[in-house]
Amino acid sequence: MQTRHGSSMNHGLAPYAADPAVTRGRRYAEDPPMGRTEFQRDRDRIVHAKAFRRLEYKTQVFVNHEGDLFRTRLTHSIEVAQICRSVARNLRLNEDLIEAIALAHDLGHTPFGHAGQDALDAALRARQPDSQGFEHNLQSLRVVDRLEQRYGAFDGLNLCFETREGILKHCSKARAAHLGDVGRRFLDGTQPSLEAQLANLCDEIAYNNHDIDDGLRSGLITLSQLQEIEIFASHWRIASERYPGIDERRLTAETVRRMINTLIIDLTSTTASRIAELAPDSSDAVRAAPPLAAFSAAVHRQSRELKSFLRDNLYRHFQVMRMTHKARRIIHELFDVFMDEPGLLPPRHQRRAAGTPPRAQARAIADYIAGMTDRYAMLEHRRLFDMATRHAS
Ligand code: MG
Repeated sequence: MQTRHGSSMNHGLAPYAADPAVTRGRRYAEDPPMGRTEFQRDRDRIVHAKAFRRLEYKTQVFVNHEGDLFRTRLTHSIEVAQICRSVARNLRLNEDLIEAIALAHDLGHTPFGHAGQDALDAALRARQPDSQGFEHNLQSLRVVDRLEQRYGAFDGLNLCFETREGILKHCSKARAAHLGDVGRRFLDGTQPSLEAQLANLCDEIAYNNHDIDDGLRSGLITLSQLQEIEIFASHWRIASERYPGIDERRLTAETVRRMINTLIIDLTSTTASRIAELAPDSSDAVRAAPPLAAFSAAVHRQSRELKSFLRDNLYRHFQVMRMTHKARRIIHELFDVFMDEPGLLPPRHQRRAAGTPPRAQARAIADYIAGMTDRYAMLEHRRLFDMATRHAS
């Protein structure tokens, strides 16, 4: 494993920021990059990956064809990266590392969002009870460690430990035991870098707010429902006092942007005071300390209220449930048909699945399905189950 080289390039950053000059290294040794840091190189590799481009056609809450203005996994990831960079800059942390983590955090998502993941997990466990199932977070790591094939010398993107550590935001102990250095913290109860801790909370800021926006645009939730939610109502009041008489769409946008701003400021200041209290003097001291990234108690409570509102009224809305029902069926049927007839897989995936023990074959099929975009999964399903659909791709 490649480790320390070059002098510190952490100009102006806090002592507890991740320093690319002292990265714990990549799985395969490489020459140091020219004209950019190790974490900038990771970010660049992620942006050029095939899995990154596929995010454009993967569901966040709404399936891509339901409307042109809804968030997709790609626009979600870009919004997370923007929020991450703001928070990291406020705290003098490494913006390149947190940006790389944000852009890669959802690479392992299946088509059709969480419904797709749950269906693939259930299908895999039904056929291979000892397989540990499917989990999107672990799959994101699998994409960057193994599934991308763009380099002559290695599989995957060969990212730095710190980026991989941030991508793997949660993991069971049973799974962590098979992951080597990047899984160790789940076994010994330590924390990841501050950049990784914050990326996780910035993800939450992004989806809570854009789901309000998309939920209202779709008509599945209403402004009068949201007036019952403290964090929305208080910002709505401030925005309408500041701009009396503006139309509802503009007022909604003003409200949402103010909420994002409040959350960023609260996350920054609460985390800054925890840092001041525990005074970590390096990224490794951050790892040994209790979790440092946090919202204040009041904002955490408001955020939970909003989350449960979105769960009950948007994610479980009957129209969303109808979509997830269809999605589950597509994923289940694709998985089962490939397990029963591996000869139906496209040649490249057939080669990966062929000659392997049943467990590895199931995993290769799960990788193929997880990599599909929403519309590719629907097309593949039609090709396999609808007589009238042509097979030429
Ligand atoms: Mg996300």
